Amino acid sequence: MSDVTTTAPDSESEDVPAGIAGEPPATAEGKAFTLELTQDQEDIRDWVHGFAEGVVRPAAHEWDEREETPWPVIQEAAKIGLYSFEGLAQFWADETGLTLPIANEELFWGDAGIGMAIMGTSLAVAAIFGQGTPEQMGEWIPQCFGTPDDVKVAAFCASEPDAGSDVSAIRTTAKYDEAKDEWVLNGQKAWATNGGIANVHVVIATVDRELGSRGHAAFVIPPGTPGCEQGAKVKKHGLRASHTADVHLDDCRVPGACLLGGKEKLDERLARVREGKKSKSQAAMQTFESSRPVVGAQALGIARAAYEFALEYAKERRQFGRAIIENQAIGFTLADMKMEIDAARLLVWRAAWMGRTGKRFENAEGSMSKLKSGEVAVWATERAIQILGGNGYTREFPVERMHRDAKIYTIFEGTSEIQRLVIARAISGVHIQ
Ligand SMILES: Cc1cc2nc3c(=O)[nH]c(=O)nc-3n(C[C@H](O)[C@H](O)[C@H](O)COP(=O)(O)OP(=O)(O)OC[C@H]3O[C@@H](n4cnc5c(N)ncnc54)[C@H](O)[C@@H]3O)c2cc1C
Repeated sequence: MSDVTTTAPDSESEDVPAGIAGEPPATAEGKAFTLELTQDQEDIRDWVHGFAEGVVRPAAHEWDEREETPWPVIQEAAKIGLYSFEGLAQFWADETGLTLPIANEELFWGDAGIGMAIMGTSLAVAAIFGQGTPEQMGEWIPQCFGTPDDVKVAAFCASEPDAGSDVSAIRTTAKYDEAKDEWVLNGQKAWATNGGIANVHVVIATVDRELGSRGHAAFVIPPGTPGCEQGAKVKKHGLRASHTADVHLDDCRVPGACLLGGKEKLDERLARVREGKKSKSQAAMQTFESSRPVVGAQALGIARAAYEFALEYAKERRQFGRAIIENQAIGFTLADMKMEIDAARLLVWRAAWMGRTGKRFENAEGSMSKLKSGEVAVWATERAIQILGGNGYTREFPVERMHRDAKIYTIFEGTSEIQRLVIARAISGVHIQ
């Protein structure tokens, strides 16, 4: 082989563009582009991976069969600081935005049901963090997690029996009782992750139905509040280690201070909307776009786990006197699986970086990342079952569980159809129905 291809060009040479000489090339703004992870990102990835491999995976089958919240596993996560606000804040602190999706991918690679039992709390935490005052954050976020000796979970309750994709149809009401400075909530929430078993519930309710989603507000329901009860627990297709249930609110009274952001801010916002001025609803959409890559990363973790399992299986399983991977049909399927997973990850990382660095999601890049990852996860886990043949269809092997778990990623946090709607509207400027 000639030196031309093996020897790095002289870095001092003026003819050699930066980047070829060993340094990443600079963009117009003078910033380097690189997909190489930092030492911190690699350390966190390896730490979460270790927990996923050593603690989560061995417990996955048992808790899927039991269909119960894996409290001992959550406690293990709390003991090492993975299940805590500090842990979440450490992931969030990465200014590139990548650590949060990286950590989620690793955890869900271990198991998605247990992953959701650990990460479900973060939905409520994100709402308190995003909409609460500093005092509300200080008071409620620690109560979402409890302590390693007494772990708690939290629930975020937006969906209702008649308000899933159409959030503006929420019927749960919140009425202010000025004499007592209390809010009175009435309604029924559906499919709430950790609903009823949570220490802290964050509930989205309408304070003015005529304003649609712009008349919504978020309330914290403190532990043990009368009138907040678990309804039916949902028996699910997948993600069975994660508790999902209806939540009933019957004259549920909470102190005025439980309105996230405070009453003054709400009154100002409602007044602006009633005057026909722009409200913060677009800002809320931007926030939603930012959370989607994290959900996409969870789907990626499932897809990668199924791909890795199928790859190893295909190398070992012999039919017709050769390993099944020696057949192009199998080898090409695995090639496509790897390529699709990597492509989805690039969309996830792009959206995570955009969200964290405050870039506008002009083309609904957050939705793209969640849509692609969810669909890749469903497709890749189905292909994994096919590669395992009869074994793939049994509960003796994990890929059927992964396939069941993957399916939710085309449904919750915005269905695939709704993601396509968001993208189509963003790229066209047309209000596509
Ligand atoms: C396991 C699980 C956990 C969940 N956790 C939570 C939680 O913690 N908190 C919470 O608030 N909610 C939660 N949800 C609810 C979830 O967010 C909703 O199920 C989801 O938003 C879809 O709403 P829906 O089920 O009412 O479906 P629907 O809105 O009834 O949609 C049914 C079908 O119609 C399609 N559709 C609807 N509108 C359109 C349209 N305009 N154009 C094209 N197609 C359309 C949808 O894409 C879908 O295919 C959870 C659900 C599950 C199953």
